[in-house]
Amino acid sequence: MPASNENTKKQAVVGSRSAAEERAQSEAIFNSIGDGAIATDEFGKITRINPTALRILGYKEKEIIGKWFPSAVINVDENGVPLSLIDRPITRAFLTGATVSDRAYFQRKNGTRLAVSITVAPIIHNNRPIGAIEVFRDITLELKIDRMKSEFISLASHQLRTPLSAIKTYAHMLADGYMGEILPLQRRSLETIIGATDRMNELISTLLNITRIESGSIAIIPKTTNLVKLTEEVIKGLRHIANDKHIDVKLKYSAPAILKTDSLILKEVLSNLLSNALKYTPEQGSVTIKLTGRNQHLTISVHDTGFGIPKHSQQQIFTKFFRAPNVIKHETSGTGLGLYLVKGLVTRLGGKVWFESEENKGSTFYISLPK
Ligand code: ADP
Repeated sequence: MPASNENTKKQAVVGSRSAAEERAQSEAIFNSIGDGAIATDEFGKITRINPTALRILGYKEKEIIGKWFPSAVINVDENGVPLSLIDRPITRAFLTGATVSDRAYFQRKNGTRLAVSITVAPIIHNNRPIGAIEVFRDITLELKIDRMKSEFISLASHQLRTPLSAIKTYAHMLADGYMGEILPLQRRSLETIIGATDRMNELISTLLNITRIESGSIAIIPKTTNLVKLTEEVIKGLRHIANDKHIDVKLKYSAPAILKTDSLILKEVLSNLLSNALKYTPEQGSVTIKLTGRNQHLTISVHDTGFGIPKHSQQQIFTKFFRAPNVIKHETSGTGLGLYLVKGLVTRLGGKVWFESEENKGSTFYISLPK
């Protein structure tokens, strides 16, 4: 008996030493994280902060431990205005119980602003949230590179426009016989040149619009807009593609659809959706555009009987440069920028965009806009 007592005591000592060691080890791991890391309890009180976070924020540990996270660590927008509590990633993580990632600005102790990428995850223990951990890193350089990239694309696109319009004008003049008789073969070649310049112009507009959306410099000029007329114009502009592929395009609406919006932007959005529907629908298919109004919103749907979007690709469809593998074999031309742009533009108009799709059956894209 005494021997076994002795053993139990020894185990207890070993056990308690390893628990202390484990604590020290987890402390060391937390402190060695290369990104800033702040942990809170379930009430949002700061329980731990690592040296990177202290360096980034400019605080000493004793100035921050035990404080309520939202008042100790200030998030502001790009103009220096503090984010409301509900908009803060940590609040969203607490409310949803899910991991939240976002970009924001920290206001440091010395008053300067720093752009950071933040990920907040709830800490779950025994199926119960017992706090949250916020990890963040400085993204000043990333933002600077992004800005330079956008400026370069914008400058290059503008510079490409002038020579392109000269090519198009002269190709038209040649094709129309202003510079002498031409042979049918020569005309076909000139038409190919004109078609290619049109596609390049579209690509340049898309790139310019994307840089404007990303830099937040796109101006919205709302005007009373007749949606039926606007949709008819969009259909007219793409009628030749529908005719070439023998695709039946229908427009359905039950009441006059009038709303106050930026008609040029909406036209760009609808053109993108209709041209996708035509591009990804095989010959003899059909495309139906419906305008419906409910309460304060108008909904536009573009339905096609085309290739559809495979389930595994549906999550990525609005991502920049994404193209689903099922369409690439049918349609080699495409940039994967159209829907990214549509989403950015619709969001700027205060609306929403979503879709339903089944592979080999077809797709329906919806836009809802505030009236
Ligand atoms: P692009 O058409 O230039 O590839 P988009 O951004 O407009 O780029 O579309 C991204 C991808 O979404 C397409 O490549 C295609 O895989 C899918 N997609 C978009 N619209 C449709 C549609 N109506 N039917 C089937 N797939 C579509």
